[in-house]
Amino acid sequence: MTDSRNVADFLGEDGCLQCGVCGKRKQLRINFMGRDRVVGCLCDCEVQARKEKEEQLRREEAQRELYQRKSVGLRDRRFWEWRFENDNGSNDKMLIARQYAKNWEKMKKENVGLLLMGPVGTGKSFFAGCIANALLEQGERVMMTNFSRILNEMTNYQADKNQIVQNLVDYPLLIIDDLGIERNSEFALEQIYNVIDSRYCKMKPLIITTNLGLNDMKDESLDVAHKRIYSRILEMCVPVYCGGADKRREEGTEKLGRMQSLISG
Ligand SMILES: [Zn+2]
Repeated sequence: MTDSRNVADFLGEDGCLQCGVCGKRKQLRINFMGRDRVVGCLCDCEVQARKEKEEQLRREEAQRELYQRKSVGLRDRRFWEWRFENDNGSNDKMLIARQYAKNWEKMKKENVGLLLMGPVGTGKSFFAGCIANALLEQGERVMMTNFSRILNEMTNYQADKNQIVQNLVDYPLLIIDDLGIERNSEFALEQIYNVIDSRYCKMKPLIITTNLGLNDMKDESLDVAHKRIYSRILEMCVPVYCGGADKRREEGTEKLGRMQSLISG
């Protein structure tokens, strides 16, 4: 053991060292195999110091694990800064993000996702990023990425597409940023549907941000490939309009009411 003597320590009546601070023994005399021996032991200060050291190591380990989860799950370095503590309070919809993160266990159990809509600059990605960081900090595994990145990985000649889909399904929460900007090839639409439908079948929640409006997603003139993607998303996700006043925000209120009754219920 480390020598933790200090000047105030003193020898007790039995010749063993005692702590000058807490007064407890730092040594004791034992009889071992017929011989008298003096062995070290921990006084209260040393027990306390050891506890603090272990606590410190646990905190450092937790930090390392968090860093690891974020490195894997936040596929864009910008996402790291999108945290509730960096919210300037300008968007009242952020309350929904806070409620979602706070009630995550319920959202997960009930498979409640979010469809965050609004034009560029309305903070919908920030909204999603705050949820991602909050849950990662709670120890949850979250993946926040976009379909352009996923499709790039899939078109790598060595890629195992099924494995990539499986990995995305394994995350308790998957966040897809900016749906609708990726390419529209038959392959892309097939894989996008595949990822979303796989989570649907496993009843795992999905958060999506998009510039698309509900009218775009419910457009009767869409082809089947788009229709089936959007209809799955609308089944899985509560629409939240992140911009200011807009008629589109009204369309989501019924489902939003359901989410809020879940939260308060
Ligand atoms: Zn002591």
